[in-house]
Amino acid sequence: APLVVAVDGPSGSGKSSTARGVARALSLAYLDTGAMYRAMTWALLQRGVDPTDAEAVAQVAEQVRLVSGTDPDAPTIEADGVDVSVPIRGPQVTAAVSPVSAVPYVRRLLVQQQRAVIEAAGDGIVVEGRDIGSVVAPDAPVKVFLVADPVARAARRAAEDGSDDAAATLASLERRDAIDSTRAASPLVRADGAVEIDGTHLSLEEVVDRVVALVRE
Ligand code: C5P
Repeated sequence: APLVVAVDGPSGSGKSSTARGVARALSLAYLDTGAMYRAMTWALLQRGVDPTDAEAVAQVAEQVRLVSGTDPDAPTIEADGVDVSVPIRGPQVTAAVSPVSAVPYVRRLLVQQQRAVIEAAGDGIVVEGRDIGSVVAPDAPVKVFLVADPVARAARRAAEDGSDDAAATLASLERRDAIDSTRAASPLVRADGAVEIDGTHLSLEEVVDRVVALVRE
């Protein structure tokens, strides 16, 4: 089976940059599972489904076809044949993704697809999300739980999103973390055996180096 490096943590902790950097440094594939939940959410919104209607979400989710690219230099995500890499970062999807992700049937579908991508990875794959070390790949030999101070996270996320409103970004991020951490289905927790890294005062390169060192151990 391919080597799996699990990178979990809250929104804006630097998971994506870290996971891509590690994949690049070690010539591994890369999977952004958050992009899959976002693409699912985008497709449900396209179909007029109310994201807070768990029954409707579960009913329609099965029709959605997702395809994830695993190149860390050019990650892609398609929903029903459409490249949705850009719209899944917009405010509508960001506001609706947490309730969609809390629906157990959506998680079952996506975890299955994530495991299929992992199986198809050659040498290995860096997988980022919320439940990778706990649910998707509990046997991963390297698990990282990446955290950062919320204010630093909000500033980073606001910069990524091109927003100048760090306060609004902080509120949106904390709302999402609260739902993600308290939901019944696979809440965000530090998995057994995960190494916690606090990136607040580290550069991206330093965080990547630490994870690479864990892989080489
Ligand atoms: O990582 P990102 O912030 O793009 O994830 C978007 C949302 O997808 C999260 O807020 C969370 O609700 C959900 N998610 C999840 N499980 C994962 C990855 C993401 O529930 N493995």
